[in-house]
Amino acid sequence: MPDLIHNLEAVRQRIALAAQVAGRDPRAVTLLAVSKTFPAEDVRAAHAAGQHAFGENYLQEALTKLDALADLRGSIEWHFIGPLQSNKTRPVAERFDWVHSVDRLKIAQRLAEQRPAGLPPLNVCVQVNVSGEASKSGVAPGEAAQVARAVAALPTLRLRGLMAIPEPIGSIEAQRAPHRVLRELFEQLRADGLALDTLSMGMSGDLEAAVLEGATMVRIGTAIFGAREYSN
Ligand SMILES: *Cc1c(COP(=O)(O)O)cnc(C)c1O
Repeated sequence: MPDLIHNLEAVRQRIALAAQVAGRDPRAVTLLAVSKTFPAEDVRAAHAAGQHAFGENYLQEALTKLDALADLRGSIEWHFIGPLQSNKTRPVAERFDWVHSVDRLKIAQRLAEQRPAGLPPLNVCVQVNVSGEASKSGVAPGEAAQVARAVAALPTLRLRGLMAIPEPIGSIEAQRAPHRVLRELFEQLRADGLALDTLSMGMSGDLEAAVLEGATMVRIGTAIFGAREYSN
């Protein structure tokens, strides 16, 4: 899979360049490879090329992939980044390391109850809807503090930060606006005493804008694995 290896390196270079422009340490930006719709073999190839954090959106697909890659358990970090229904939280609590898409208290409570006692706390980002009506998922910015505090109080969860999925359209300058909203909210919550260290924002089309606005984790699918094809 020469393309994949080449793409991975190109994405690392994009992160490094954007960090340089922003005057930031490129090591402060973690690359999350979003492998949804791509087979376990692609994840294995990316892992062999030094990629360790992978993001998945669709639970059933993800669980099949986790099974196929069980031999790599311990050296892969799995992040659930998709919409989460409250009746599907258990396998996420049991098998993932991170969840980026917590957007209501009920989901956080279920994940906390279902996180097995032998595992470290589940890392959680609260998803925020920074672009108003464009996307329906995520808490309103004004509600983020309340949900974040509730997550922080749950012992089997570890509150890490905030996540957003603004539509990656327009110029870099235009793309920066929603990322700035999330970053300012992040700074506000930190100033209010919440111990956040993760700003999860930026995809293939707006990685640079996100890094310029302070992203600490970018979630990149297409630019690494290629265009996705959905079967339905
Ligand atoms: C699919 C997806 C990504 C990756 O998007 P690309 O444009 O393919 O890089 C990032 N974050 C979330 C939440 C996604 O669903």
